[in-house]
Amino acid sequence: MNGQQVDAHANIAEVGRRVLDGGQISRHEALRLFELESTADILDLMAWANRIREHYKGNKIHLCSIVNVKAGGCSENCSFCAQSASHQTASPRYGFVDVPPVLEAADEAGRNGVTAVGMVAAWKGLQEGPILDEVCNRIQEIAKSGKTRPDASLGIIKNPKVAQRLKEAGLECYGHNLESSKRFFPNHCTTHSYEDRVETIRHLKNAGIKICSGGIIGMGETREDRCDLAFSLKEIGANVVPINILNPIQGTPFESVPSLAPMEILKTIACFRFILPRQEIMIAGGRTVNLRDTQSMIFMAGASALMVGNYLTTLNQPVEKDLQMLKDLGLDPNWDDHGFAGQEETNQPQPIEFRKPVAPEFAQS
Ligand code: SF4
Repeated sequence: MNGQQVDAHANIAEVGRRVLDGGQISRHEALRLFELESTADILDLMAWANRIREHYKGNKIHLCSIVNVKAGGCSENCSFCAQSASHQTASPRYGFVDVPPVLEAADEAGRNGVTAVGMVAAWKGLQEGPILDEVCNRIQEIAKSGKTRPDASLGIIKNPKVAQRLKEAGLECYGHNLESSKRFFPNHCTTHSYEDRVETIRHLKNAGIKICSGGIIGMGETREDRCDLAFSLKEIGANVVPINILNPIQGTPFESVPSLAPMEILKTIACFRFILPRQEIMIAGGRTVNLRDTQSMIFMAGASALMVGNYLTTLNQPVEKDLQMLKDLGLDPNWDDHGFAGQEETNQPQPIEFRKPVAPEFAQS
């Protein structure tokens, strides 16, 4: 081991011990971890991230799945997304689905021991009206089935009453990614702003709904952007933090973005665990295609949750294979507290600066 490596290992150990003792990592310290290059250093970082995961999460792994309740033709121009009407992709298009396919997804999730099924829609967001009534009905139907927890990821919310209606319908957790750092955000979306997303999260938290919010890595952002995303997620009090890895889709502006190396992805997960020690860190879209044979190392890197089943527009490996992977690693996917235990002290709404929305009109597509 050379002198530089000895320094790196000592730094990682010092911060790792502090996080294990309930302390925090500073942005400057985290940036140093994101900049680690050698495989030996990254494996050392992962070993500490694994200890932090075990300390705060035990051997429990929380599973989630999603069902696309309205596909394609989205008014927004997110450069990574196959469902934007701005891009020519082979992604399917259909309107808001009826109750049976949603209950089928809940049933399948229940059979596989999945904690929650998230209804996801390709549109700008939700406002009061008949679509909101339909959404509330689907939430109640899933809850009534008793198979799994109904979650939702239905875009931007500008009216606090909408968040209140979702809460009253029984929604416990809403998925709304920040996607990237505030600085990088305009590089992948210009039809809505980072602030629109933060404001949505504020309305949901005020209504007492838990937040699943993360982002996508591998879009061309810097390591500093990834670090800032993690700190923003801490600031907004995300309960579950999904990390997606870009799977470039033909026909999108990001179709030719080069893939991140698996060790870079694993290092990013480990850095997120140092910054967000108590949160559920969930590995979601792009896992199989980007990590290939290193997939099972996500848990050693600090991941405590897994998106299983197919993604919105791409395929995942079969759920049985994921369940076998967890069994082989001695990890337990059976949750009885919905995965939120032990987070209360970190999830109080934090003070966030909100600016007035720039675009006054808000059309539901
Ligand atoms: S808002 Fe959602 S569905 Fe619409 S383009 Fe962006 S990521 Fe895709």
